[in-house]
Amino acid sequence: MKIHEYQAKQIMKMYGISVPNGSPAFSPEEAARIAKDFDTPIAVVKAQIHAGGRGKAGGVKLAHNIDEVKYYASQILGKVLVTHQTGPEGKMVNRLLVEEGSNIEKEYYLGFVIDRETAQVVMMGSSEGGMEIEKVAAEMPDRIFKEYIDPTIGLMPFQTKRMAYNLKFKDKVIAKAQKCMMDLYNLFVEKDCTLAECNPLVVTVDNKVMALDAKLQFDDAAIFRHPEIEALRDEAEEDPKERAAAKASLSYVNLGGDVACMVNGAGLAMATVDIIKFYGGEPANFLDVGGDSTVEKIAEAFRIMQSDDQVCSVFVNIFGGINKCDVIAGGIVEAAKVVGLKVPVIARLDGTNHEEGRRILKEANLPMVHAVQKMEEGAELAVKLAAELKAKRAEGKEA
Ligand code: ADP
Ligand code: MG
Repeated sequence: MKIHEYQAKQIMKMYGISVPNGSPAFSPEEAARIAKDFDTPIAVVKAQIHAGGRGKAGGVKLAHNIDEVKYYASQILGKVLVTHQTGPEGKMVNRLLVEEGSNIEKEYYLGFVIDRETAQVVMMGSSEGGMEIEKVAAEMPDRIFKEYIDPTIGLMPFQTKRMAYNLKFKDKVIAKAQKCMMDLYNLFVEKDCTLAECNPLVVTVDNKVMALDAKLQFDDAAIFRHPEIEALRDEAEEDPKERAAAKASLSYVNLGGDVACMVNGAGLAMATVDIIKFYGGEPANFLDVGGDSTVEKIAEAFRIMQSDDQVCSVFVNIFGGINKCDVIAGGIVEAAKVVGLKVPVIARLDGTNHEEGRRILKEANLPMVHAVQKMEEGAELAVKLAAELKAKRAEGKEA
């Protein structure tokens, strides 16, 4: 789960990290009211969307007086911001952060993520922080320093010291930089983050160490332990399909293609995405219905998949274990009744109760449903039928 920069800054502040004074604003008037109380000659107006790269896209503006604050706020609010992290469709800006401008001496990068290879949290730092960090990572990877953290011991002072020296912080701020690393690590672990990042972390001309940008992401599987984080959710920023799926306990990821799939088990779901690609198709989603399917859950999965206008076929690929094929078949029949089948459905049901499942489908006599025996056969047919429907739709549009 992602949250906004201003929310991440509030949490960082609770952990002892310095952040600029500021508040969220939903209108130019509110932005102006906030900036009136600032002590600094510059106020910064920042688009709040769940994506980075805002600076380069015009979503971060420095204002020198209240009129400018109002002007920039009115320019940014309601605008669709396209950054290298939003995808071409961009994201609508509904909120701003208005904060005091810092007198920056130098920008650094500091971040924590989980390294899958070592199964450890890794702290990453660079003295080349700021808006070009992706370029640094691609072209000068040796400028990014890493400290792997033993989970049984936690981040050690020698590691924060080594990082501070590698990043060449000046003597006056070394202790502050080390403290900031420790604070951010504590936050990362206690709040079950998957990412905690300050880019830039800055040293100011008056020797403060501050997070000027703040990004936190949380492990969805651990959100139940943090109702205070769940309360920060901004549904406007999330894919409605992914949101509906989470509510129905379905594990769904939108992939943007036209062949939808519904599978039981994450491994088989990954293999299904792969095999759709193998036959030349583009998977619309990853969807694991889990092991405790009910007829209602399957019908909801259909509703979600079909709410994606791009979808041109649905490949149901079930290897029944705990899940029973008759329940899945019942779910398909229920979906046909309740939500209607708008695109061809290719059903491969194998494993527990598959005879019963196939019988239910046969007796329901649904013209949109094609039963197949093998996964390969199903994937190939799903790709073929999707291509046919897509061509038909294109023709329809042209006519
Ligand atoms: P993004 O990463 O989405 O582009 P940032 O919050 O990192 O957005 O802002 C981009 C740049 O704007 C920063 O690298 C920094 O140079 C400048 N900036 C951001 N906030 C402030 C601030 N409070 N004071 C001064 N400069 C800022
Ligand atoms: Mg940034």
